[in-house]
Amino acid sequence: MRMKGRWRVLPRNAEIFGVPWLVLRGEQHVGVLSGGSVLELDRGVAGRVGPDILAQPPDFDAMLRNLRAIEQTREVGDALLDQRLIGGIGNVWKVESLWAAEVSPWRPLADVGDDELRAVLHEAHGLMKGRLDGIRGRARVYRRKGRPCPRCGLPIRSWPQGDSARMAYWCPQCQPGPR
Ligand SMILES: [Zn+2]
Repeated sequence: MRMKGRWRVLPRNAEIFGVPWLVLRGEQHVGVLSGGSVLELDRGVAGRVGPDILAQPPDFDAMLRNLRAIEQTREVGDALLDQRLIGGIGNVWKVESLWAAEVSPWRPLADVGDDELRAVLHEAHGLMKGRLDGIRGRARVYRRKGRPCPRCGLPIRSWPQGDSARMAYWCPQCQPGPR
């Protein structure tokens, strides 16, 4: 559904004003999206989503197996966004977790060790869970092109990545790799 629109979560019976773009009604709450962009409906998609990064605990072993089962020339930053491999990592958290684990988004999977992949997944889970729990934090590198890396001070770089050209941000010193 990309990054457009604004979600609100309301009690199930709350009155909904305006013309929402999408309403997801659960047993206790309703999620209301206004201003959405693209919605692809696909029967059975839930069965093809990878292990949930926000599960308690996440199945890191299964995620790692999924990452190793695909073409290993694929860039790690692109693979992390593939919801069939890992469910729930969006572009912001891909960027932030790769920086936290000091892994370049541009390295092919073949070049990234299991320990490094686990570290990235661990960071993604920790950062996303923290945000859900209400821990406030600033993005360290996301949308900070040209600003100093919080760890080493070198300017953050950015470049579109993958078929959908999601913007990657990385520190060329802390996250060495191709390009
Ligand atoms: Zn750095």
